Amino acid sequence: MLATTRNRRSRTIASRKSRPAPVDFNQPPPRKVICPIIDAHTHVGSPAEAAKLVESARLYDIERILGITSLNNSIALDAEFPGCFDYALSLDYRHKDEPQKFQRDNVRLIETAARRDFKVVKFWYKPTFNADQQMKLDDARLTAVFDRMGELGLTGLTHIADPDCWFDTAYGDVERFGTKADQYAQLENMLERHPNTNMIGAHMAGHPEDLEHLSQLLETYPNLYLDNSATKWVSREVSLNPEGAREFFIRYADRILFGTDLVVRGGWPVEMYSSRYWIHRVMWESSTVCDLPIDDPDNPGKPTLVGIDLPEDALRKLYYQNAVRLLGIILDT
Ligand SMILES: [Zn+2]
Repeated sequence: MLATTRNRRSRTIASRKSRPAPVDFNQPPPRKVICPIIDAHTHVGSPAEAAKLVESARLYDIERILGITSLNNSIALDAEFPGCFDYALSLDYRHKDEPQKFQRDNVRLIETAARRDFKVVKFWYKPTFNADQQMKLDDARLTAVFDRMGELGLTGLTHIADPDCWFDTAYGDVERFGTKADQYAQLENMLERHPNTNMIGAHMAGHPEDLEHLSQLLETYPNLYLDNSATKWVSREVSLNPEGAREFFIRYADRILFGTDLVVRGGWPVEMYSSRYWIHRVMWESSTVCDLPIDDPDNPGKPTLVGIDLPEDALRKLYYQNAVRLLGIILDT
């Protein structure tokens, strides 16, 4: 059974590390602050696939879900779950080898999306995409798209890098993928060339291992924001450096959006989605120290989850105020 945060905190002081029984993810840990929560990073498909995510989100007080999806799915999702979702879409890369057509089609696509009240355009520019598509975020073919996004008030969301350890394994071929540091030139060029277009760097802009680097990016580019999605990765790094992470989340409280990066899959149980919301709640709203209750392939053994107990005003900004301000999301309450 899940102990309350307060109980856990006193146990934590007594024993430093509590080892609770397996977690019941259907029992959300207590809230520290009562405020809406916007999950600003998920991937959704059809209503049937999204149903379990919605069930879990309701259990965890998630008032709005920003789903990366197609225009057509957004219509079906709004019909099935009114008021539950806002949306992000990806560009159409089919004609990337015809620059004029690529730009014209995609400017039209984002104009249509803006008319349908989409808030975000997703750029999945991880190293494999860069290598396979021969395209980076500072590519001239994207200039017209970024300019139009700025005019329309659409925000970008980009996945720019993966965990440091992947650069020793999956991206070990430096000639093909570059180093981890190499990934950031494309982001910095984009931010510098398009100061009127805001960009959210997903997963702490791909570098939760190096808060110094993130500080430098945030200080240099006022149009850069971060999200704290990718539960295993972010919880791993926060738990390794809880004091530094807490200080960072407070210092940049106006620049970080809450998100999970949950990807809906037909057949996954509610508990799969809830496990991520459970971890986030413990991580941001409590000072609990416990075993990470899910497997983390990048951290075999027994990873520890350390809560950083953010202050209430930082939690409000993280959970909804930044998303409302930056993305123009309108909450009912
Ligand atoms: Zn994602």
